[in-house]
Amino acid sequence: MPETILVVEDEPALQETLVYNLEKQGYSVESTADGRSALETARKLNPDLIVLDIMLPSMDGIEVCKTLRRENFNNPILMLTARDDEIDRVVGIEIGADDYITKPFSMRELLARIKAQLRRTQVLREELDKIKAADQTHDIVTFGNLTINQTRREVLLDQAIMALKPQEYDLLLFFAEHRGQMLTREFILERVWGWDYIGDSRTVDVHVRWLRQKIEKEAANPTRIVTVRGGGYRFEG
Ligand code: CA
Repeated sequence: MPETILVVEDEPALQETLVYNLEKQGYSVESTADGRSALETARKLNPDLIVLDIMLPSMDGIEVCKTLRRENFNNPILMLTARDDEIDRVVGIEIGADDYITKPFSMRELLARIKAQLRRTQVLREELDKIKAADQTHDIVTFGNLTINQTRREVLLDQAIMALKPQEYDLLLFFAEHRGQMLTREFILERVWGWDYIGDSRTVDVHVRWLRQKIEKEAANPTRIVTVRGGGYRFEG
């Protein structure tokens, strides 16, 4: 998918030139000519980058930039400035723009700056994906040959994915989270099925029996989900 760029420029000739050149580079381009519609379009479109003129009707580019940053718009914003604008403030923390280019500028330079910003975003995204992937590995719990992958809601026994019903999965996960603890049928029923569930603790027994058939070596002689006499169940792992 092409990256989306929002061009905010009130000089018609310059806006047209920008749109033409960016589209020629393969970007998907939207354009507006004033500050308020720039805000609206940015919110709706969530563009990968914004080229934002400072001097604009209705709301200037600095306000647009500050507002978007407050709203957690994190993609690059490249400001177009006139020579007498306060350039130092623009790229600082105060305004939150990533880069600026002073008018008049060459299209080649602008395109180079845009490419650099988009590349930087891409690198950040990839790093974020890596962190997310690492986080997901924490969602995997293993008990011997039994593995529960919470992200995928999958249970593996000896590396093979098991077919578990949603309630069986929820019950197993609940056991896993309370490993070694004695859990009464009522407590399990309340926590796995919920308060409003119409049924009784035999529901728990039935599901435990099904689970045992799937995860125990011998369902009749369970070592993972053990029965606590007069109490309930305990997951041993
Ligand atoms: Ca202007």
